[in-house]
Amino acid sequence: MRKPFVAGNWKMNKTVGEATLLVAEMLPGLEAVKTVKSIVCPPYSSLSVLSGMLTGTDIGLGAQNLHWESGGAYTGELSPAMIKEFCQYVIIGHSERRLYFGETDETVNKKVNAALENGLIPIVCVGETLAENEAGRTEEVVSGQVLKAFEGVAAENSPELIVAYEPIWAIGTGKAASGEGANDIIGNVVRKSLEKLFGSENSQKIRILYGGSVKPNNATEFFSQSDIDGGLIGGASLKAEDFVQIVEAAA
Ligand code: PEP
Repeated sequence: MRKPFVAGNWKMNKTVGEATLLVAEMLPGLEAVKTVKSIVCPPYSSLSVLSGMLTGTDIGLGAQNLHWESGGAYTGELSPAMIKEFCQYVIIGHSERRLYFGETDETVNKKVNAALENGLIPIVCVGETLAENEAGRTEEVVSGQVLKAFEGVAAENSPELIVAYEPIWAIGTGKAASGEGANDIIGNVVRKSLEKLFGSENSQKIRILYGGSVKPNNATEFFSQSDIDGGLIGGASLKAEDFVQIVEAAA
């Protein structure tokens, strides 16, 4: 059985003071749900202080990005080892990074391999645009992203991977996909692609999340689906009560 997993992607929100307050507010509720692994992914600036707050709890910490090189002249970037000082997880290939920061399937692949080499668990985001969806290209786009992201990853490392299927047209728009529609892509496209790479036994162990306008009032629709193992939550992870309710729904 795959343990449900819920990650809060805070994006570029919360100062250190605000982040501390938010985690203090959500921590008791998150800790109470033992059957779900929950993690928060704040901006880099809060990783140090939150890693202190979360030590000794079951709540994990993730970064929203990393660079694949181990060091050098890369102004503004953080290496995998720097992220690993504070985090166990790292989001890679979020659609906002693909759209605004030139992230490609190739850089996603380099980052995934660098994360794994440094003991970080990558949460790899894939998903189609509205135009691709309307043109009937969802399967081709999503399977292409999955196959490329994990090129070079050894099958023995695969059970710990996490993939988030996030149709881009559903992120931050309030327009979530339907539970059944998301389950279909996750089961028939994402997991099938993982099966091609890692074999059927390994791919059954990989957790695949849905992301895109998940809120307390629709979380159960997604989490009750057979192939959806949890969620990557944007906007609703910035409110303690909402995030805790979503984690409870995953339980
Ligand atoms: C996200 O940023 O990964 C996301 C799913 O955002 P939202 O929940 O706000 O749609």
